[in-house]
Amino acid sequence: MSKLRTVKGMNDVLPGEIERWHRLEGAFRDWVERYGFQEVRTPIVEHTELFERGIGEATDIVEKEMYTFTDKAGEGKEGKRLTLRPEGTASCVRAYLEHNLQGQQPVTKWYYLGPMYRRERPAKGRYRQFYQAGCEIYGDPGPYVDAELIDMLVGLLRDVGVQDVEVLINSLGHGETRARYRAALLDYLRPHAAELSPDSQRRLERNPLRVLDSKAPQDQAIAAGAPRILDFLSPEDAAHFDELRAALDALGTPYTVDPHLVRGLDYYTRTLFEIRGRGGDLGAQNALCGGGRYDDMIAQLGGKPTPAIGFALGIERLLLAMPTEAPQPRLDAFLAAQRPEDRPDLLVLARALREAGLRVETDLRGNSLKSQLRRADKSGARFAVVLGEAERAKGTVMLTDLTQRNAERREVPQANLAQVLRR
Ligand code: AMP
Repeated sequence: MSKLRTVKGMNDVLPGEIERWHRLEGAFRDWVERYGFQEVRTPIVEHTELFERGIGEATDIVEKEMYTFTDKAGEGKEGKRLTLRPEGTASCVRAYLEHNLQGQQPVTKWYYLGPMYRRERPAKGRYRQFYQAGCEIYGDPGPYVDAELIDMLVGLLRDVGVQDVEVLINSLGHGETRARYRAALLDYLRPHAAELSPDSQRRLERNPLRVLDSKAPQDQAIAAGAPRILDFLSPEDAAHFDELRAALDALGTPYTVDPHLVRGLDYYTRTLFEIRGRGGDLGAQNALCGGGRYDDMIAQLGGKPTPAIGFALGIERLLLAMPTEAPQPRLDAFLAAQRPEDRPDLLVLARALREAGLRVETDLRGNSLKSQLRRADKSGARFAVVLGEAERAKGTVMLTDLTQRNAERREVPQANLAQVLRR
């Protein structure tokens, strides 16, 4: 029989590795809650239409990367088209509208964390199931909140040990600006149409901005000479972008203006940004996080026009960029019983320590003390605690610090044990 394996591009995360995930996820929650964000959890499966309308049909994600299937139909009904979510923003907007949260608070700040699914070509740092942590803000047109969001991200990255980053920003303008730029871009691209990649040729008329975002070398060469959207900004869009830059300057957050930054989603308006890592183990997949303003999406999905901005950061990529630290002891103590008949007392002692908040493991199989202590050594516990016959009579235990070579054993009263272990 062939060996069962995970689906290509989807990974298990095992103990030993998961601790870094916990640290990163904990740091993310802690950091964004300091800025007033609250968590939302939306389903992993949504109606396909949400992503088609929300992300845009002429995008890589919607055209070729979604895991879409037809659900089983009820009696006399047609099965619904469902999709594993490829990103978090459209689902958040759906939830925001579905629960009538518009107008309940002037500004809503949400965060989410969870797996996303895109059928991309797997590579280091690029998977078919990957985790994103993201934030969304509804009801603030920026640009000050945009600057705060970017600066928050830089602070979070620094907090988890990723200092060497580059912040790229651009403005995609709005309504009129976009229409004028689109026309100018088409004028520039049409004469090059035959030299473009097949994907870009197909999208040229529907969505010329996509060509700027293409990874195909022939497209990139042509994109390099394309007109810059920043030259087309309306006075309002230009003022928004100037204020964003001034706010980032006031915060002391370094950034680079990249007039060709477009990113693969159709919904962006005005502020757009990406943070790239320069160090660590990232290789080619160096985009740690990306985001921007999507002031039109809420209205497009049926809500009252509401300005919005958000970002998502890739957990796996951030883990590649983060420094590796020495592992911390996973357990405070490993408890061993000298004789098998001492196991009931061992259970009582272990429970008391856990109730006191300590992480405690035991070996309850009735093996020899030597075998239990071997397991204690391997367990990653800080201390070994032996409940022996003599000590039991006195209400004490013997304690050994496993993190020190040739550590002395010491006798500790059971009543003080929790306190000693906590130290
Ligand atoms: P996006 O949702 O495309 O704006 O991507 C935001 C971030 O998610 C990127 O900067 C990456 O860190 C991460 N990301 C996107 N796609 C993948 C993928 N296929 N595998 C791993 N991480 C990804």
